[in-house]
Amino acid sequence: MKITDILSQGQPTLSFEVFPPKTEDKYDSVEKAAAEIAKLHPAFMSVTYGAGGGTSKYTVDIASALHHEYHVTALAHLTCVSSTKEKVRQVLGELKDAGIENVLALRGDIPPDAPDKREYNYASELIREIKETGDFCIGAACYPEGHVESANKTIDMDYLKQKVEAGCDFVTTQMFFDNNILYNYLYRIREKGITVPVVAGIMPVTNVKQIIRSCQLSGTYLPTRFKAIVDRFGENPAAMKQAGIAYATEQIIDLIANGVNAIHVYSMNKPDVALKIKENLSEIL
Ligand code: FAD
Repeated sequence: MKITDILSQGQPTLSFEVFPPKTEDKYDSVEKAAAEIAKLHPAFMSVTYGAGGGTSKYTVDIASALHHEYHVTALAHLTCVSSTKEKVRQVLGELKDAGIENVLALRGDIPPDAPDKREYNYASELIREIKETGDFCIGAACYPEGHVESANKTIDMDYLKQKVEAGCDFVTTQMFFDNNILYNYLYRIREKGITVPVVAGIMPVTNVKQIIRSCQLSGTYLPTRFKAIVDRFGENPAAMKQAGIAYATEQIIDLIANGVNAIHVYSMNKPDVALKIKENLSEIL
């Protein structure tokens, strides 16, 4: 099923993300985690793509297993900046053969050793190419706090508009921990005429070190309330997990209460976290 068809039903939706293994020996454990999350009947599940593309086969395989074996709509990520046009065509062909209808088209982070002359520079180029095939419902990334490389949020939104004009059908946000940032962003992008559905990306924080580093890299704002939780429970993994799930749940409830219906949880291959969030929303969804 196409994700735009799922989102257009006007009901709150909960979806989850998994990331593929880096090596073959971890494949079974990742597929098992994905299968456990699939049992929660999410609206769809996304499968990330290794930055360099060297593990693209696992993205296709996990997405295919979700679709065929676990009967969940799959969204396969695809990055282009470290790729060639030939490789992109190959992966799109594999996804099509596997019956995958949804692709999240990304640039990817530019590796430090990347050549100046590349086959792709921006996600919009990839989106245009995928659109030309006519085969996929296309998603893209968006950044309520601005992408880290952008001079300011306005310019970033102009480039988001370029992605939509290139053919993207919906966008998924970078994680954020203050819903007001999203509400302000939605107002501003709608004013710019960006009308595609926005899927809110929510990260339940269970691993503090990992998340602090990732927020520093992406420039994500950490509200005082969130920092207090990290200060108090950061050294106690079980307490932090419980608090992180509760914080994410509160964010989701507030989003749905304010009309943001599409919620995507960065579940990081953790079925127990996905289950708790689903349980916490049992009467809301
Ligand atoms: P783009 O949209 O191309 O934007 C990159 C930067 O260039 C931005 O600063 C933008 O403002 C600017 N820009 C865009 N167009 C132009 C233009 N024409 N001229 C000048 N500047 C321009 N990474 C992975 O490796 N694998 C994944 O699976 C993955 N999944 C992700 C999922 C989500 C929901 C999000 C939010 C991010 C994900 N990422 C993933 C990270 C992503 O690849 C990085 O954030 C990357 O740095 C930017 O990718 P993009 O597609 O947003 O790039």
